Amino acid sequence: MQTPDFSIEFFPPKTAEGADKLRAVRAQLAALGPRYFSVTFGAGGSTQQGTLDTVLDIMAAGQEAAPHLSCVGGTRASIGAILQQYKAHGIRRLVALRGDLPSGYGGMGEFRYANELVEFVRAETGDWFHIEVAAYPEMHPQARSPQDDLRAFVRKVQAGANSAITQYFYNADAYFRFVDEVRAAGVDVPIVPGIMPITNYTQLSRFSEMCGAEIPRWVRLKLASFGDDSAAIKAFGLDVVTALCERLLAGGAPGLHFYSMNQAAATTALWQRLR
Ligand code: FAD
Repeated sequence: MQTPDFSIEFFPPKTAEGADKLRAVRAQLAALGPRYFSVTFGAGGSTQQGTLDTVLDIMAAGQEAAPHLSCVGGTRASIGAILQQYKAHGIRRLVALRGDLPSGYGGMGEFRYANELVEFVRAETGDWFHIEVAAYPEMHPQARSPQDDLRAFVRKVQAGANSAITQYFYNADAYFRFVDEVRAAGVDVPIVPGIMPITNYTQLSRFSEMCGAEIPRWVRLKLASFGDDSAAIKAFGLDVVTALCERLLAGGAPGLHFYSMNQAAATTALWQRLR
């Protein structure tokens, strides 16, 4: 079996103090030897400069970095300019997304779906970028059906994506089934599970509600029973997520992508357990 690739996701900090904190977190996580760090991009371009600054900071420290790029609300001209800027900085990897516009934001822009962005990136920059796209083993919440969502995923790969990172999930079977269906559709790109450590039940419930990730009932009941006991939540969460990662890797997942939430502790603890 090939050695799995690990990657770690950050969001761009909003303040200089946040940027300093993230540098310390990144230095700690870099010691674990991830393949690359990715940095999210606020839909509508709200974090455009912050994403680039964070990526450049990571590259200056000698690590590979991949900016996310969401196209919703953007135009061909605005997205084209960002691509040229990334290219000029020597960035070689991108996570290409549609994004979700904040409510009250004006128009949708010139791109409707992520496959159109992937097509555009290839038309503008050829093979310069390694393109990652998003995948949803438990179905994207706006999809009409799992079959429609699978077809949408296949279109992104046919448009030129090299690999995929999934939305987080806690049901390993949903991932394995999704990968089987993608393979049956003739698509063979690596699909790396996105891993969300469990550290805060209230926050996790809110996120999961929004992005359509299911927290299994038994896990939810256990987490709720711990109340404010954050140490118990973290210890139980570490057990659950370690077991999930072990099962995914044993079942052939090509790597893991950690949603770090800009914190080092949970990802480090998971990593150490896995080793
Ligand atoms: P798409 O692949 O375009 O799919 C969106 C929806 O449209 C799906 O329901 C799909 O089934 C449907 N669809 C696709 N094509 C068609 C069609 N032709 N007709 C009808 N329906 C169609 N968001 C951010 O804003 N910034 C980030 O940095 C960011 N990073 C992310 C990283 C990862 C790994 C993941 C999994 C998600 C990330 N997101 C981010 C969230 C993402 O932007 C949202 O989930 C968004 O709603 C969908 O983006 P997408 O690229 O998957 O869209």
